This record gives sequence, C-alpha cells and structure tokens, in this order.
Amino acid sequence: MRLLSFALLASLAACSPAGDPAESNRQDAAGGERQVAPILDSPEAKDVQSYARPLEARVTHVALDLKADFAAKRIAGTATLDVQSKPGAKAIVLDSKGLEVKSVTDGDGRPLRFALGKADPNLGAPLTVEHGGAERIRIAYASAPDAEALQWLTPEQTAGKKHPFLFSQGQAILNRTWIPTQDSPGIRQTWEARIVVPEPLKAVMSGERLTPEGEAAEGGGRAFRFRMDKPVAPYLIALAAGDIAFQSLGPRTGVYAEPATIRAAAAELVDTEKMVAAAERLYGPYRWGRYDMIVLPPAFPYGGMENPTLTFLTPTFLAGDRSLVGLVAHELAHSWSGNLVTNAVWPDSWLNEGFTSYFENRIMEALYGPGRASQEAALSFADMESAFTELGAAAPGTRLHNPDETTEGGSGGIVYDKGALFLRTMERIAGRERFDAWLRSYFDRHAFQPMTSARFLADLRSNLVKGDKALEDELRLDEWVYKPGLPANAVRPDPKAFAPVDSALGAFSGGGAAPAALWARWTTAERLRFLNGLPRQLPQPRLAELDRSLGLTGSRNAETLFAWLQLALANRYQPAVPAAERFLMSMGRRKFVAPLFETLAKQGEWGRPIAARIYANARPTYHSVTTGTVDKTMKENGGT
Ligand SMILES: [Zn+2]
Repeated sequence: MRLLSFALLASLAACSPAGDPAESNRQDAAGGERQVAPILDSPEAKDVQSYARPLEARVTHVALDLKADFAAKRIAGTATLDVQSKPGAKAIVLDSKGLEVKSVTDGDGRPLRFALGKADPNLGAPLTVEHGGAERIRIAYASAPDAEALQWLTPEQTAGKKHPFLFSQGQAILNRTWIPTQDSPGIRQTWEARIVVPEPLKAVMSGERLTPEGEAAEGGGRAFRFRMDKPVAPYLIALAAGDIAFQSLGPRTGVYAEPATIRAAAAELVDTEKMVAAAERLYGPYRWGRYDMIVLPPAFPYGGMENPTLTFLTPTFLAGDRSLVGLVAHELAHSWSGNLVTNAVWPDSWLNEGFTSYFENRIMEALYGPGRASQEAALSFADMESAFTELGAAAPGTRLHNPDETTEGGSGGIVYDKGALFLRTMERIAGRERFDAWLRSYFDRHAFQPMTSARFLADLRSNLVKGDKALEDELRLDEWVYKPGLPANAVRPDPKAFAPVDSALGAFSGGGAAPAALWARWTTAERLRFLNGLPRQLPQPRLAELDRSLGLTGSRNAETLFAWLQLALANRYQPAVPAAERFLMSMGRRKFVAPLFETLAKQGEWGRPIAARIYANARPTYHSVTTGTVDKTMKENGGT
C-alpha cells in the first residue's frame, strides 16, 4: 500500500508507506500554507459509497457561502472547491444528492460544462464537472427541502418554542445533500464557510468560529464565518443554527445550547476541561484548539456526533447527576480516533468506533476510577453478547472489518463493543504501558490521515509486535479483525464489577421482593445491569411490583427509562404505554426510538396498533436517520 498525492507524483517512488505522510501543501487565497492530506491507493481503501475518483481529480478545500432559508427549508449559495488533478485529467466527479445545481464556473467565472448522472436512492447522483484541469471551481446551488443531512425544526420542536432551529448530520454519507463535494471519509478537505441566518438566530459550525456574534449581511440576516485549517473527512462539516446561548466551562471548553437548556447543560458538563486533560495524558495533545459542545433540541438522532471543535449532543444525556457523561468522553475521544485518524471507508468503521469506545473507557477510568470503568466495560460486554445472540455468533455481521457495512457507518453495536474489547484484549496481553505507548504513537504517525484495517495491522506489527512470534500468536490479530464471533483470548469483564447487583437479580428472579433500598443507592450502570439482567418474560404482577417499588415508569434518566420500557412493552405491560408514548414524542434519538418501536411492533394485536398510532404522530418530528430505521422496522413487523 502506498499514499498518493498529486503534487508529489514525481517523488512517489521514494515515498515510504508509513511515517511519511506524503503530504503536499499549497497556497491558500491569502498566501498561507494549506495542508493537503494523502489519498490511500489500495483496493481496501476504495470507497464504493462515493462516486468520486480521487486518484484522477480530488477536492482539497471547500469554501461555502450559503444562506439558510427556514421558510423554504433550503440552503442556497455557492461552494468553491480547490481541486488537485492528475496531469491530463479533464473532469472531476463529485457527490450530490437532491441538489439543484444552477451553474458551475472556474475560478475566473468562466462557465464549465457539468452533468448530473443517474440518481441512486442511497448514494445520490454523480456531479461530473469538465474542469479541464482548473484548480478552482465554483458551484451555485440549493439543497432540496428534504435534504437528509438537514433537519429544520419548527419553534414547537425546540425547548424555547419561539424560534426555528436547523442542524446538520453528515455521517455517514448525508453531507452530499447540502454540500457538493467528494463525500468520502478518505478524501480529507480543509474548509471555510460564511453562513447567513435570519435575525436573531446564531449559526455555529464544526470549525474555528471567527465571528461569534455575526455581522450584518447584505439583504438581511446575520453572517457567521468559520474556518477549519486541518484536513478533515467531509462528513465532519457540520452546522447548527437557532436561538443559541454559550457558557464557558474552562480555558478551552464551553457549551452552546438553547437558553432554556444552557444551565442544565453547563452543570452536567462541568468536568469537560478535566476530561480533555485526561485524554491528552493518555494519548497525546488535543490538536483542534477549542473543545466546545452544543446540546441540540431533542430531535437530534444520535447520542452525540464528534464534529471537530464542536461535539453535537442529544439532550437525553442530561440526567442531572452526570451519570451519562460517558457520552461526552466518547465524543471527545473521537478527536483522536475518528477525526485525527479516520476510517478510509465505512466497512472499517470499527477503526473509528472500537478505538473510541476503548479510549472513552480509559478516560472514565482516569476521571472516575476503575470501579466505574469496569462496570461500564461489563455493560458493553453484555451488549456485545446480546448482539451476538441476535445476529448469531458466526454471522458475518459480527466481523469488525465488515465489507457489507456500506451505508450506516457503524451504527451496529458490534463495531463499538467488540472493537473496544479487541483493544482491551491487546492491552491485557501486551501490558498497559507498552500498549499505551503504541497507541499514542499510532495517533502521531497517522494524524490527519485515512486508515484501513490492513494499514492498522501493518502498523501494529511494525511498532508493537516487532517480530515477537509468541506475542503475535497470542494476539490472534487477523481473527479479531476479519473473522466473525469472539476469539478465545477475549478479556472477560470483571465478575466482581456488579456482584451486589447480580445477587439482587438472583434474589428477585427466585421470587424475592424488588430491591428498593439497594436501588436508591445504585449508580446508573448498576441500575441498567439490574434491568437488563431481569428475566425477559415476567408476569404482570411482578412488573407492577418492580414499577411501584423502583419508580421505573417515572424515571427521569433516559437510559434507565429506556431499559425499563423495553422490558415492560415486551411483556405487554399496559401501564407503561403512556410513558412510552411521552418518551417517543419527546425525543428522536434513534438508539431509543428504533428498538422501542420494534418491541411494540412485535407484540402482535396488542402492540402493533399502539406502535402505528404513536409513530404516525411522532414521525414528522424525527430526523431522516431515525425514520430511515424505524420505517424499515415497522414494515418488517407489519406495523404500518
Ligand atoms: Zn462514536
């Protein structure tokens, strides 16, 4: 495998595969140096989810000048792309989905011929521009009102109820619905943007925020400017706009949220500065400047999204007691695994998510102690085991490198939990000190570059195994990466992690009373262990006893409530239905929404009508990421 960078074609023969990033820099408009990241040229780095042909012509920089029209639900303006081409390349191919392209010109304003190819329902259409080798092209365009990356919220869908809100979600292949570029994680791009939003809204993006208060824009509204001078995977370009307040949390950390949410958000996130410091002590410098977060309205479909310099968060992690801040540790860890070193293609998303889940646990250990970390690791192990049970232990879906994973970018739990377990196993076998030194150097060696499973294995063998045959045999590397199921050397969770909870489970399952006194003292992890460890079939009186003694239906912790509703609805426990309905109408996080609808839809005559009724009301409030999954579930289970 080798790296290819057009400006360095002549020196390619001398380019070594690792340790030499083969980067070329070019001048930006202001005469500054702009970093250009390499493209991997190997079969396993070929992205079948993108129309781009980056080895012929590639985008290196995106400059957006856009206006958000909340009434029309469109973003319109121009994208100016810097292009590097192989000598003689006549055209560049971009990704687009639903874009209305008005014109394409070169850097001097001369019209260029372009063609939108046949559209695929998933990938969108190739936008081919005959650029004749031009180094800059400008596309005037508008996004479609149903652009999948964008969610336009009405004032009613926000916490403040007064102003509309807009946010984007690019991962995995959705940014092509609002940015005409090469939408592939292996094609890193620097970017800048000017975004105009109506008064009194504010816009924030996943880059340096150059004009926090905005500037008056010609024709009305306020313009906000942003810059990302490090090359990033294009799915990491993200935008949010609305009635947004900011509160500082530390010298380089802070949180944005609607004014109605900002106090709760800041209180929950009070440890963020310490988290960044803990992460740096583990695996090296945080390279992105500020680490801010935005707590979005509840329609946000994910727990969090690791957009650089500005993590996007669901408000469902606001438990009031910081018990769910593992989510923040996770998104922060992505600043290394995911944003700094990025899967080149989505079948390798375990390189983002597995590394990050491991790193998250190490941050939690550093901040809150080994007890909490080992509990969270044990929960992750249990999640993995239930995924194995559901999929079948030998199913192809249980592989880390999964060539079938083409659309979701690692939504399945396997890449997170099995991926983290693989790293935990390597740590145990190699020893923590040695493993940490390797992982830290891995981030340094591959900073701002794409990664594949093959490349990761080569790095590990060169820099950790170093020809140690006994270590190589003990690690079972290829089995972990390429084979389904769980290798025999997997580190098991500490059986003592939940000893008191497990004995309470045994007592309840044997007919004993619900453990109300213990429950009151338990952490969220312990409560989840208890709820998820209960027999999956329980008679109504036992459910009623649990509910009454532990106050489950009234829980304000979203994770606890979700675990309870899953059990209650699977047992057709009617008293939980109103709470389920409130929960499903109050947020759009896919992790909660999709399984609850699935559980309901599987309950035949009892559950199917309930699922259909709630979904009819809730669906318009959900993001396309969530409706895409739930639509499928409902169809498969006859719920619609
Ligand atoms: Zn993640």
